Amino acid sequence: MARLGLVLLVATLLSMPAAAAQSRLVVVVDPGHDLRANGQTEPIGPGSSTRKIKDGGGTHGVASGLREADLNLKVGLRLRALLQNAGVNVVMTRTRTAGASMGNIARARIANRAGAALFLRIHADGSTDPAARGTHTLYPALRRGWTDDVYAESKRAARIVQADLRSALGFPDRGLQERADFTGFNWSDVPVILVEMGFMTNPTEDRLLATAAYQRRAALGLCRGTLRYLGRAPALCG
Ligand SMILES: [Zn+2]
Repeated sequence: MARLGLVLLVATLLSMPAAAAQSRLVVVVDPGHDLRANGQTEPIGPGSSTRKIKDGGGTHGVASGLREADLNLKVGLRLRALLQNAGVNVVMTRTRTAGASMGNIARARIANRAGAALFLRIHADGSTDPAARGTHTLYPALRRGWTDDVYAESKRAARIVQADLRSALGFPDRGLQERADFTGFNWSDVPVILVEMGFMTNPTEDRLLATAAYQRRAALGLCRGTLRYLGRAPALCG
């Protein structure tokens, strides 16, 4: 028995590094905006003299009246549940819609501190043109000293997640877009993307995104894309 115990102990110790590495896989889910805008400014990148406001407040549904911050959170919380079921650890930048929005540096720092395998930012779009519609995904433009360490992986994640999100929602494909001016990208030390699920200023997409069924579709598409990016089976999302 003592010998079997020793064998088991050694087997356990040998398997620990793999188990520990597995448990360290973290995805940071960032539901955009909050109850109120934040007019304070912050530098758009480390050491930059260019400043932008922390949060303009987001858009809202022209037909549903839904606040973008609430839609982003509903999808984010569904995504958290799906990823956790698939064995991925999730850190949320927020779990309520309450108070003034934190800045984008603060959001990036949550992802950096977590050592996130992916910093996934969830948004919905707005336009002055009510006909504008479709799904697109943004990722950081290449800038030495700011994003060169995360550029390639962010772009790869954007391509994969955009494909899965678009097919889950069935909205038109607006493709990918590089952004040099996003504070939350420039401060990120981990791969980062921002999805614009659809347009809340388009009555059709707004009405659909306001339903639980489409919020579930969005979360499922984001889960599948995230797992595919991480080299895991998207079927784990259910
Ligand atoms: Zn937004």
